[in-house]
Parts: sequence; C-alpha cells; structure tokens
Amino acid sequence: MTPLIHIIPILRDNYCFVLEGEQGKSIIIDPGEVLPVKSYISQYALTPVLILNTHHHPDHVAGNAELKAKYDIPIMGPKKEMQQILHLSSGLSEGDTVYQAGVKLAVMETPGHTKGHISFYCEAASALFCGDTLFSMGCGRLMGGTADELFESLQRIKSMPTDTKIFCAHEYTLDNGIFALHVEPTNTDIVNRLNEVRKLRTNNLPSIPVLLESELKTNPFLRETNADRFAQLRFQKDKF
Ligand SMILES: [Zn+2]
Repeated sequence: MTPLIHIIPILRDNYCFVLEGEQGKSIIIDPGEVLPVKSYISQYALTPVLILNTHHHPDHVAGNAELKAKYDIPIMGPKKEMQQILHLSSGLSEGDTVYQAGVKLAVMETPGHTKGHISFYCEAASALFCGDTLFSMGCGRLMGGTADELFESLQRIKSMPTDTKIFCAHEYTLDNGIFALHVEPTNTDIVNRLNEVRKLRTNNLPSIPVLLESELKTNPFLRETNADRFAQLRFQKDKF
C-alpha cells in the first residue's frame, strides 16, 4: 500500500519521517530525538511497529532506545554500522526488503556520508528516504566514506525515476541553494527554487520533499558527471 508520510521536525534542522501504513501502524525513520516524535505519534494516534535508521549519527539514532522500549518494537539499520548503532535488532544490506504495516521499502546502500549509510525506497509512494546522502541542492559531508563512494551513490539516485520524491533528513536547502548559485550563477532554475524555498521557510514549512526532476536541474553535486570534479566541489562547499 501507499503509506501516508508524516514529516516531524526535530532537533535544530533534522527531519524524522513516520510512514503510516495499515490501521495506523507506522514505521519511524531516523528518530534523532524522543519528545517531538512521541507527542506527534500520540497526537495522530499512530501505532509504531518498527524503527529504521539510515546511518549511525546521533541526530538520527538518539531516540532509538527510548522509543524501542516505549513501544516495544524492533530497530533495523545498516548492517555495516551495527557496531556503531546500539539497540539494533537486525542489520540491512543492499537488496533487502522491509515489509511492515503493508508498506514495502527497498534497501539501497548509499555510502559516502558514512561508510555504511543506507537509503529506503518506497516504490508505491515514489519516495526515497536518503538520510544524509543527498540534500536538496546539496549532499552530505564526507564523515566516514569517500568522495568516490558518495559520487557513485548520487549517480545511482540520479538514475531513479524523475518523479521520485526526495525525503532528505535535514533542512539545509537555503544554505545549499546559495552555494549552488555560487557554482552556477546563471542557472535560473536555482534562482526559482531559491525563491520558492525562501517563501516556504518564511512560513516555517519544510522545503522537502523535493522531486528528483527539480534536483537534476538545481543540484550541482547531482549535476556533476566527473568524480574528481565532484570531490573538488565537495571540498569547495566545506570551505564555503
Ligand atoms: Zn549524518
């Protein structure tokens, strides 16, 4: 079935996603904080059945233990980061399928930001939960993986259907857009997207999800076709 996707702003600029499937049963992705997730779930009378993690960073997993205990549910995350993520019930690898609450998610390994980073693709919703791999008009920093790995991960995302909705885990769009415009000063698609994002943020609305189609026109990291130039671009952004 096609889940209803809830976006919960947590911490300073993170998003936790809750996928509501059959009868309110829900999958929680990247709970980096407990309170806003817990209160959202009770407000919408959802029944959590599973926690998923994209990677091991605290702003994605800090709520694991408490939510696992509160709802008595398992946690699944990247097999390659099982050492770093406490409380994981089982590990996920490329090609695995998560099927819970009538919601089917395909597991993709998307290393680069971290060595074992995974993403979840829900074909029914045309939705990709890519954690800190790809951001709107930007991408994750190298914090364990290599530029080549991140480049390959983005190339893979690039080849997905253009109507894929990108649910990235941070609200970094405005800052990313300013860098994107610095890289491509004559790109009017970036100008238009920046204007749209400024309006959304002024109204305190998330700038995501964003269509892959839009990212293909506005994201310099996704548009770069050469691995070495991609690495330079990543370095340039770190210094920006
Ligand atoms: Zn991270």
